[in-house]
Amino acid sequence: MNIDLHIHTTASDGSKTPAQVVREAEEAGLKVISIADHDTTGGVAEALEAQADHDVTVVPGVEISASHTLGEVHILGYWMNLQDPAFQAFLERPRLARGPRIAEMCKRLSGLGLGVRPEEVFEVAGGAESVGRPHLARVLFEKGYAKDMEEAFQKYLRKGTPGYVKRTKNSTADTIAMIHQAGGISVIAHPGLLKDPKLLDRLIEEGAMGLEVLCHEHEAETVEKFSNLADSKGLLKTGGSDYHGDMLDKTFSLGDLKVPYQYYLDLNSARERTHLEPRR
Ligand SMILES: [Zn+2]
Ligand SMILES: [Zn+2]
Repeated sequence: MNIDLHIHTTASDGSKTPAQVVREAEEAGLKVISIADHDTTGGVAEALEAQADHDVTVVPGVEISASHTLGEVHILGYWMNLQDPAFQAFLERPRLARGPRIAEMCKRLSGLGLGVRPEEVFEVAGGAESVGRPHLARVLFEKGYAKDMEEAFQKYLRKGTPGYVKRTKNSTADTIAMIHQAGGISVIAHPGLLKDPKLLDRLIEEGAMGLEVLCHEHEAETVEKFSNLADSKGLLKTGGSDYHGDMLDKTFSLGDLKVPYQYYLDLNSARERTHLEPRR
């Protein structure tokens, strides 16, 4: 029995709706999944509703982009109270800054002779709550300014290129604290991608409760390293595919990554404990 605790939907930059994801997960034989969209819990309700018709348990989740002086970090949160107004306001903060950011990037690109309007970007995003560079890349590609989305990124959108505008982000410490305050469990996403190894220690000091040990980015020895680290530090272990549907280069399907059901059981019992004990 396998699970997948890291899946994106159309609520952020995935190509499948939450209901489609639940159906696909069942077909793939997954017993538990988490909808963990970028900086929004907007897809969770639909997935929870869909689980009634399928043999899949849905864990409410989120993947928050947070900043630390040592680098950018993605922090997963599970089982937060989604109705918590402080938590939703926290997620909303960087999102509110996205409109002006897209507008500024379009202005810069237009200055380079690439006619792109913010409305076109929002249209491509199709109502997704998190609108960002992938959507802008798609517009650049569709208008013939780049041969594919990758080239659009490399030439115009990545850090250090003329179209890049820095994003407003919440700090890692605030993010971890906010997940806990809303009753959730905090997990460091794909830790193998952290640029500075010292960052992991800082995040553990800030109270991160778990490590995403299993993911497509980790080679077998990386999985073993993080698994041992989690065991030695008393951290929870999770795993997820970071599935985005067809929007990114699709090199795997739901269910390809084998994440043991035991991870879910451990996470679930930690969740029950944290409701009794005060958080770090
Ligand atoms: Zn991520
Ligand atoms: Zn992700």
